[in-house]
Amino acid sequence: SLASRTFSELIRHYAATQPDYPALIFKGRHSSYNDLEKQSNAIANTLLAAGMRKGSRVGILAKNSDQYLKILIGTAHIGAVTVGLNWRLSPKELSYISNDSDMEALFVGPEFLETAALIKRETPTLKLIISIDSIHPEWPTLTDWVANSPSSQTTISVCADDAALQLYTSGTTGNPKGVVLPNRAFFDPWVYQDHPEMAWNNIQSNDVCLLAMPFFHVGGIGLAFMALRGGASAVIVPEFSPRELLKIVPEFGISRTFLVPAALRAILLLPEAAAADWSSLQQIIYGAAPMPEALLLEALRIIKCDFVQNYGMTELSGTVVHLPPKDHVPGSKRLRAAGLATPNTEIKIIDSHGYAVSQGEVGEILIRSPATMLAYWKNPEATASTLIDGYIHTGDAGYQDDDGYLYIFDRVKDMIISGGENIYPIEVENALFNHPDITDVAVIGIPDEQWGEAVTAVVVRKEHSKVSEQELITFAKEQIATYKCPKKIVFSAELPRNASGKILKRQLRQPYWEQQDRNL
Ligand code: ATP
Ligand code: MG
Repeated sequence: SLASRTFSELIRHYAATQPDYPALIFKGRHSSYNDLEKQSNAIANTLLAAGMRKGSRVGILAKNSDQYLKILIGTAHIGAVTVGLNWRLSPKELSYISNDSDMEALFVGPEFLETAALIKRETPTLKLIISIDSIHPEWPTLTDWVANSPSSQTTISVCADDAALQLYTSGTTGNPKGVVLPNRAFFDPWVYQDHPEMAWNNIQSNDVCLLAMPFFHVGGIGLAFMALRGGASAVIVPEFSPRELLKIVPEFGISRTFLVPAALRAILLLPEAAAADWSSLQQIIYGAAPMPEALLLEALRIIKCDFVQNYGMTELSGTVVHLPPKDHVPGSKRLRAAGLATPNTEIKIIDSHGYAVSQGEVGEILIRSPATMLAYWKNPEATASTLIDGYIHTGDAGYQDDDGYLYIFDRVKDMIISGGENIYPIEVENALFNHPDITDVAVIGIPDEQWGEAVTAVVVRKEHSKVSEQELITFAKEQIATYKCPKKIVFSAELPRNASGKILKRQLRQPYWEQQDRNL
């Protein structure tokens, strides 16, 4: 198995063993493993010449591309730290992150040059801006910038514990937090390729991975690393488009991809999805947000390939729990599980007082893993309350069954307390999702004099559907206990989501709680 523990070791390994094999394919441009090593070395040498050092924060504000990964690896070669910026954020939010991270250099894609100028104005530490693709009057273009640099290895030695990435959390429950992740976090958890439960992770050179989710998110960049760990080829698209995906899969013979549930939903909503050519596809990895059971069943029906669920978070460098293909049997209870811990990962479930729950009870999920973050950047209080005795307190509620399968309920913060009973929105959402007229649903608690909180469902109906509030409440009552059923249904045209496809429940709750003190 692969012995690398840093990005530099990994790239050098494949540049030596399979130099001419295509590593990255982007808009018809092929980069071999040799190209990847040479070009990332050139970037590393130029970064050094520009004054970047071990620990310097190097931002990337760009859609997915081959250059993105070359910059990331070049940055890792000198022990500097890539900060992947979510380009869907506003200039103000981006300036917050560039300042928070003490960003010294910023690589910018063609769509974001104006935004970069605004960020530069707000960020005193930012000395260097490179335009990745297009000509800019002030800033050099990447190819010109590296043109006179050697493509030989730098003399900097980077070790497994050195930080490689600083990714910001999705900001689902509050402000995004800067998560500092060491090189080893992307290698040590993945050495168990021979473990039978990890067979799904047995990626080979002949795999062709489609990287369709954004690289600024731990899930999107995670598949890029999986492809590189396997010495495979990766096809990169600037951003996800469901229609384009249907064409790319047969065109490039895609064997694996990673999709968040919202992306899978967008694909399955296309009438042409059922007749599309999925024959090359061996595996879809899905995760990063709760997967509604009805959506998963629909995906299993339409796309004939292996499905693997991943559960994880930025603080854990991505995946730590996975539901293998064999557990994707329609009708089985396991279909609602997030899965089993990666072999060297430990799960603990605690109650609100911090004690371990009894087997099978719901509580907060704690995880200890070799993929754990070093810390939240410049936020010792948040680090101290999240990373305790080596365990990450995930903020997610769930339970583990006798066989070790983890079932995620919800964020602890999203739990509804109504009439003294704890209600997990996901159960109610899954019940409503079974209704054929519902395409999207989010369940929240709103203040209620009698119940404390009243279960409320915000529902997106299929076009032309006239299904009523009362019909949906009755439909829910046929499936789940009455106290869990929505007291109120609000119809909406769509639900607010962030870039990782997660529903922003705090935004849905806000108008109802303005006068009250629920922690949004
Ligand atoms: P923030 O921490 O800023 O509020 P976030 O938690 O959404 O944002 P991420 O690190 O991108 O930021 O997401 C991790 C969270 O995503 C997990 O804590 C969990 O709530 C959710 N999640 C990830 N995978 C799954 C999954 N397979 N099923 C259900 N939820 C998931
Ligand atoms: Mg989080």
